[in-house]
Amino acid sequence: MRLFECGSLVPGCDWHTRADSDAEVVRRAVEHLRQSHGETLIRENMVDNIKARIVEETKAA
Ligand SMILES: [Zn+2]
Repeated sequence: MRLFECGSLVPGCDWHTRADSDAEVVRRAVEHLRQSHGETLIRENMVDNIKARIVEETKAA
């Protein structure tokens, strides 16, 4: 499972999402950034910033 925590990109935000694929995580994260952080124009490097912060969720957690 792939996990993205918005707080790693937007300090103080506790929103997070998990999905089977990076593509789905990115899609949800972009949607969240638009709705919650006013990112109406997603910059080119935004997707890279999200991808760089996606982590593999450990099953032991
Ligand atoms: Zn957020």
